[in-house]
Amino acid sequence: MSFRARLLTFFVLIVVVPMVAMGVLMFRLISDSQQGKADARAGGLAGAAASLYDSESALARSDAEGLARAIGGLGGKAVVARFSALARQAGLARATLSAGTRTLANVGDADAIAPGSAVLVRRGAASRMIVTASEITASQYTRALSGPGVEVVLRNGPRILGATVRISPGAPQPDTGNVTVDGTGYRALTQTFVGFGNAHVTVTVLSALSATSATLGGSRAVAAGLLVAFLVLALAFSVLASRALQERLRGFLHAARRLGSGDFSSPIKIEGGDEFAALAEEFNSMSTQLSRRLDELSRERSRLREAIRRIGRTFASSLDRAAVLELALKTAVDAVQASGGRLSVTSVEDESLTETLHEGSLAGLEDAIQEAETLALQNGGLGEEQAARTSVAAVALSVAGSSGPPHGVITVARRGRAFTDDDREVLRSLGVEAALALENIELHFQVSRQAVTDELTGLANHGRFQELLDAEIEQVRRYHHPLGLIMLDIDDFKAVNDTYGHQQGDAVLRQVASVLRENSRDADSPARYGGEELSLILPHTDLEGAFAIADRIRVAVEGLRVARTDGHGVLRVTTSVGVTSSTVGDKHRLIADADGALYEAKRRGKNRTVSAATRIAEAPGGG
Ligand code: GH3
Ligand code: MG
Ligand code: MG
Repeated sequence: MSFRARLLTFFVLIVVVPMVAMGVLMFRLISDSQQGKADARAGGLAGAAASLYDSESALARSDAEGLARAIGGLGGKAVVARFSALARQAGLARATLSAGTRTLANVGDADAIAPGSAVLVRRGAASRMIVTASEITASQYTRALSGPGVEVVLRNGPRILGATVRISPGAPQPDTGNVTVDGTGYRALTQTFVGFGNAHVTVTVLSALSATSATLGGSRAVAAGLLVAFLVLALAFSVLASRALQERLRGFLHAARRLGSGDFSSPIKIEGGDEFAALAEEFNSMSTQLSRRLDELSRERSRLREAIRRIGRTFASSLDRAAVLELALKTAVDAVQASGGRLSVTSVEDESLTETLHEGSLAGLEDAIQEAETLALQNGGLGEEQAARTSVAAVALSVAGSSGPPHGVITVARRGRAFTDDDREVLRSLGVEAALALENIELHFQVSRQAVTDELTGLANHGRFQELLDAEIEQVRRYHHPLGLIMLDIDDFKAVNDTYGHQQGDAVLRQVASVLRENSRDADSPARYGGEELSLILPHTDLEGAFAIADRIRVAVEGLRVARTDGHGVLRVTTSVGVTSSTVGDKHRLIADADGALYEAKRRGKNRTVSAATRIAEAPGGG
């Protein structure tokens, strides 16, 4: 039910219903009072009718006495004749003379009423005579009483003696109370008087209700007018009050909507000191607090974003993988205020996870952590799991769009409080930033490796060979330990290329390089000197040791069976090897000696190892 509908109901209940009840009561009272008035009028008329009847009867009685006196002395037949003559002379409405039950004379109108009698006792006569006279007929009587709004009906039993109103035959006789005669409403009152021969004469006075209903209508109109005026006033007041209420409520509604849409700029106007004013004040203070809290939140968020950006920059500029991993885990734990966390890295071989770093406590959460980590790895983003009142979230360290598996997973656990969308966003971006940093580091090392590595053989390239040799020469100069150097060249390599193609040549080169690598110790540095010429730097190795290694390599190459690229069996190759060793820190001399020995090996028929010392010893003119 809307507020408006409630107000309307309230208005109807407290104003309209009582007003209608009061109206009904008023109309009832008015009607009753008008009834009383009609009764009083009818009563007055009845009184007038009675006194007229009585006074006419009294006059008739004195007429009767006069007649009795006038005929008192007469006797025999003369009495009746004299009586009739006198009665006519007096103009009486009716006069009767009777003796016992016998009527001796009956002069005048049969409808005469209000009789008066006198007794005539004659001397000598045995019977008494009764003289009865009347001065008024029924119609005279009714005419005398009737007036505007007043009708009279005179009856003798059911017989109508006289009436000023038309009474249709067969209609019920008007008696008392409210009656309708000839279509008009009357208040009726009936009285009975004595007529001729002791007959009952009933007189009914009819007072027209319309005579009083005019004032009744007036009173009703006034009452109705008052009621309507009051109702209109009440309605107007209610409408105004409801409008004012709605206006203020609308103000609150608008303000609440503004708050909902994040607009805290315009507070509600505080008017007066009523409950609405108090409410508005509370509302405004709530809005201020909310706005302040939102500001704090947004500041906090931007701080967090800034921190992540800073971390991202640190990540980007760092080439220390371990430091990046540690910073990522610490930041994740701090950012979501986790009770503990761990970082696992993905192994290159089988992509399994190995826990690398650990922060805080994760006791009893192993299952949930594993679940979350599996989820995170599967979707390359966030994975969440719930354990006894602890929320666990794992984020894969991966960059969207990168092809390889994630670098690892950071997992954090928080007791009591579930992770919010903000927490998730922070973790996600941290995962991305850390993955970017790790990729950056990998790329950096890859590029550095490429700069010093020969692509075909994977050995150090010529430049790197020179650097490594420089470093070893430096050591030799300082400490004078022997430094060995082997130079190796594939025999008749051009023929391999020419016969089987360059790809076959490459394959041979790669395999010979592998042999060199396999026969190197940790401290040794195998390198591709150039073309199909390879070298091996042997720190702390004298000529004898270097020779042994060199020849071992030569034999190993000789034993190689290189699969042919055309699929037709295998190839065999040999190498010529030159060896030298020196405790004198002279790089050019060292290379030249090894090179010379190699040349000597070629000269002597290839597939052999020659040491610089024997070369010099055997050389023509050599020491
Ligand atoms: P020798 O026994 O005297 O050393 O004869 P050789 O044919 O090996 O000597 P030469 O130095 O004339 O030929 C070397 C050939 O090696 C020439 C060149 O085309 C080839 N070569 C150099 N570098 C590569 C390489 O990276 N791949 C291949 N397939 N061939 C190479
Ligand atoms: Mg060569
Ligand atoms: Mg060669």
